[in-house]
Amino acid sequence: MPPAPERREFQSTGKMREVMGKYFAELGRGAQEGKKTAWCTSVGPAELLRALGFNVYFPENHAAMLGAARMATDLIPLANARGFSPDICSYLTSDIGSYLKGETPLQKMGLKGVPKADVLVFNTNQCRDVKDWFQFYAREWGVPCLGIHTPRAIGDVTEPIIEVGAKQLEALVEPLEAVAGAKLDLDRLREVVALSRQCALLWKAVLETAASVPSPLTFFDGTIQMGPAVVLRGSQDAVDYYQALLAELKERVAKGVAAVEGERFRIYWEGMPIWGRLKNLSQQFLELRTCVVASTYCNSWVFDALDPSDPFRSMARAYSSIFICRSEDQKEQYIREMVAKFRVDGILYHDAKTCPNNSNNRYQMPQRLREKLGKPFLVVNGDLNDLRLYSEEQTRTNIEAFVEQLAEA
Ligand code: SF4
Repeated sequence: MPPAPERREFQSTGKMREVMGKYFAELGRGAQEGKKTAWCTSVGPAELLRALGFNVYFPENHAAMLGAARMATDLIPLANARGFSPDICSYLTSDIGSYLKGETPLQKMGLKGVPKADVLVFNTNQCRDVKDWFQFYAREWGVPCLGIHTPRAIGDVTEPIIEVGAKQLEALVEPLEAVAGAKLDLDRLREVVALSRQCALLWKAVLETAASVPSPLTFFDGTIQMGPAVVLRGSQDAVDYYQALLAELKERVAKGVAAVEGERFRIYWEGMPIWGRLKNLSQQFLELRTCVVASTYCNSWVFDALDPSDPFRSMARAYSSIFICRSEDQKEQYIREMVAKFRVDGILYHDAKTCPNNSNNRYQMPQRLREKLGKPFLVVNGDLNDLRLYSEEQTRTNIEAFVEQLAEA
């Protein structure tokens, strides 16, 4: 067997490190510069917070860093000892463990610790855990915790759903203005929503380059490249970054440059990344000359419904349209479209033990989709951050067998 191909780096990644470094440096200087900090859930109302002049911090991004740095597994028991069950979200437990221990990867980036919140703002569109998570810090620091309660298992995103969401967003304005010490400027909000939409469309275009055969990027690249789409949407920096990345990807496509040299098979990743094992998994797929071309996860930050001419209603629509808060039928339809668009040979479902919200294998979806699409599937048992729930050996063997199955199909 020829040696495994090398993973291809992106020239743009250096620019991304700069952009992310600047973002974290601004967060670190926030209090000294008299800026207020708002914590926001990853699919929360970031545009509103940015328009009000807050530095916006995303603890899920921090939790993913704890996972990727393989610090999470040691930190989770500290939160367990304070009454947070080992069965609930390991983002929550690792982040709270990090706070209790006073250790964070942000210290390596020159910050003293995580930036203390002046206000915490959640949206339950993804799960209930985010509210419980934010309420812990609100009690610790005696600061307000505000939020939006979005229905779950949404079929069509109907007018009443948009109306309820928009009203809740509007109701946040007054209490947020009180914390910010500034009035909301509607023109500024429109500007931020326009930038966020631009960022979302560019990010979508970046991910869609993987529809080319061979694909110029993998899911594992996507988990790194998605940083600005999560934490900097609504800023010019994110737009500039994705313009550069998209140009690089288009060049790869034009030259036929593959992310996985000798690409034989194309896989869809459904569910959360396994942050502490991304490198190993990426390497195994390289060796198997199999490209994980698309995922539900990376596409979760494509808010194409945003519309600067109708900011509140379009934010409500965008944040109620995401995959995680949709019905089984809608999710199934979405995956069917992705499988066709990205010319996928098989689907890998990650059953993340502590995140039922992002584990879509539990109610027969793989079997239904196999029947409809005729594509094989594999379920990997693991977790986003708690590596005690993941067997590397078993997963390696299962992935190998799955790819063999694709070869025989
Ligand atoms: S969606 Fe899952 S991983 Fe994300 S915060 Fe909720 S429980 Fe945690």
